[in-house]
Amino acid sequence: MGASFRIRLRLRRFTRRHHTLFTILRSAMIFMAGFGGAYGFIKASLSETSGYNPHAFAIGASFLFALACVGLATLSMRLRFMRKKMHKLALHNEVLADRNWELQEAEQRARSLFEQQGDLIVMRESDGTIIFVNDAYCRMAGLDRENLLGSQFSFDLLEQGDSALEPSGTRVHDQRIDSAIGPRWIAWREALVRSDAGHPAVQHCVGRDVTDRTETERALAEARDQANAANRAKSRFLAMASHEIRTPLNGILGMSGLLLETQLTPEQTTYAKAVRSSGEALMSLINELLDYSKIEAGKLALEAQPFALTALIEEITELLAPRAQGKQLEIAAYLDERLPTWVTGDAARLRQVLLNLAGNAIKFTSKGGVALIAEPGIWPNEISFQVRDTGIGIAADAQERIFREFEQADDSVARSFGGTGLGLAISDRIVKRMGGRIALQSQPGAGSTFEVSVPLPPALERGE
Ligand code: ADP
Repeated sequence: MGASFRIRLRLRRFTRRHHTLFTILRSAMIFMAGFGGAYGFIKASLSETSGYNPHAFAIGASFLFALACVGLATLSMRLRFMRKKMHKLALHNEVLADRNWELQEAEQRARSLFEQQGDLIVMRESDGTIIFVNDAYCRMAGLDRENLLGSQFSFDLLEQGDSALEPSGTRVHDQRIDSAIGPRWIAWREALVRSDAGHPAVQHCVGRDVTDRTETERALAEARDQANAANRAKSRFLAMASHEIRTPLNGILGMSGLLLETQLTPEQTTYAKAVRSSGEALMSLINELLDYSKIEAGKLALEAQPFALTALIEEITELLAPRAQGKQLEIAAYLDERLPTWVTGDAARLRQVLLNLAGNAIKFTSKGGVALIAEPGIWPNEISFQVRDTGIGIAADAQERIFREFEQADDSVARSFGGTGLGLAISDRIVKRMGGRIALQSQPGAGSTFEVSVPLPPALERGE
């Protein structure tokens, strides 16, 4: 059944291809039949026994001549038509040959591009048989293309990295393989490509040698881990050292206080007071270091207790009043009446932040005054505390920097005012832990405004 169909198909193709030839043959046969008929007719009419009629003969001869002429005209038309067709076919054939040549060249170019790629390229059938490899793959495998094609070669796996599937269906994964040039990290992209509906899909794999990048990443991660460990060790040391220094320092402060209560000569009193004030300065420095190391180690625990806002603001103003008076500065506090009387939060840490900001405000102001203002913030339950001063101000380029640890706006200024550059870094971290933020507005010579905005929900119950 299949064979007979094929024969019929071939016959049909043969007939179609030789159609013109058949037409010529047919026309030639008609012409020859006409010519033969005319010849027979003349021959017969010239014989003695025919009863020759010149009239009928002339009509018959003209008719046959006309028939021959028509046959010849048809034949010549056919011939011209065929020649045109042949010419067209020759042109078409030429175009096809050109196109074929271009396609072959493009394929050659694509193949050589693939083969010269730095990335490894391999195509496999569903059973893993290699049907294409490029030069890079051959080099990495240390084998010739002839040996690889048709084989199921794959590299020895030393380590398998993470694997991910992209939405396009491409599988992406990293592998550490044992290659002919030593262990290499290869980032593979694998996709199944189906070229023909009847054939199984072919696996296309492209691998990029990422050894240098992976090793650099690993070295960096290792260095980062070491730095983190060193940082943690430093914070632990700082916490321990500050704690250890605090104990004898408390003794010095206590003893100098007791000493000052005894009968001393004016000279001795001056020396004892100097001991106490140096001790106090050292104590505040140690406390800052302890806070900083606690925050660094993530050990800053915040409380959520009800406290009175009025009491907090009054306490801060009272604590700072002697220093402000000492510098002949005005100190003012304002509490917006829309604020709740009791709020929930960590009063001690908030006091520490506001005391640091207001302490700085007094420290960096020589004329004018300092104001502490509490108002509702822009978010519900948020309270904004502003610390304003008329001091030296902060240059725009230093405004971000001073919130980093051990940073001061201007070293020469810092020398004359003292300080460690830790207060703002600690305050910023505490406020962030509270879920708030610190903003700064300042101009050199025109004073500064630090704004602390923290969520402080109204307290449901009063807790003293
Ligand atoms: P310290 O005051 O111990 O140096 P801070 O972290 O509290 O550390 O402050 C960092 C720096 O920010 C200060 O040294 C100062 O240069 C600048 N600064 C902070 N507050 C003010 C202010 N109110 N006016 C001017 N400069 C300020």
